[in-house]
Amino acid sequence: MDTIEIIETSGDFAKQVEKLSHANLNRCWHCLACSGGCPFAEDMDFLPNVIIRMIQFGLKEKVLKSSTIWLCVGCNTCSMECPNAVDMAAIMDSLRQMAILEHYLIAEPGILSFHNSVINSIFRHGRTHKLEIMMKYKIAEKDLFSDFNLGLKMLAKKKLDLLPSKVKDKKGIKSLFNLSGGIS
Ligand code: SF4
Ligand code: SF4
Repeated sequence: MDTIEIIETSGDFAKQVEKLSHANLNRCWHCLACSGGCPFAEDMDFLPNVIIRMIQFGLKEKVLKSSTIWLCVGCNTCSMECPNAVDMAAIMDSLRQMAILEHYLIAEPGILSFHNSVINSIFRHGRTHKLEIMMKYKIAEKDLFSDFNLGLKMLAKKKLDLLPSKVKDKKGIKSLFNLSGGIS
C-alpha cells in the first residue's frame, strides 16, 4: 500500500463525488468493513476506506490517478457490507467517470481499454460478444498470443461463440447510449 503525501487539495472534491455517486461520505466511520471484504484490496494502492478519507481531505489528483479506482470491479461487496449504507461501489464508479471526463492520467489503461471493448460490443450487438471483446482488447494491448491456448480451449468447449448473438431491438439499445451521453 502507498502512503499519502499531501501536495494539493481541492475543497469541492467531496461535494463533487457525493453529487455524482449519491453517497454520503460523512456516514463513514472507517470501520474497515469495506476494505476487509474487497476481493482486490491486496492489489490496490489505497484501501477503499482510505480512498474515502482522501476524498474528505480533498486529495483529488492522488485519488483520480490511483490504481484502486480501476482495480475495483464494481462487485458491490463493500456496499453490501457497510454498516452505514455508504455506497462505495457507486463512489468508485463516480471516480472513474471523473478521471476520464477530467482527463487524468489513467493508472491502469489496460483495464479502461477492456471496459471500452465491452461497451462497444454492447453498443454494436445489444449483448457482449466475448470473442470480439477479447480480440479487440488483445489488439489494443498489442498482446496477441499470451492467452492463445486458453482461447483455443474455450472455443473447443464452446465457451466462446464465433458469431455474435444480437438483440432484436438494436434501436432501443442505441437510444440508451444516447440517453447516457453517447459512446467514445
Ligand atoms: S464499511 Fe462503510 S463505514 Fe466502514 S469504512 Fe467502509 S464506507 Fe466507511
Ligand atoms: S465494488 Fe470495488 S471496492 Fe467494493 S468490494 Fe468490489 S472491487 Fe472492492
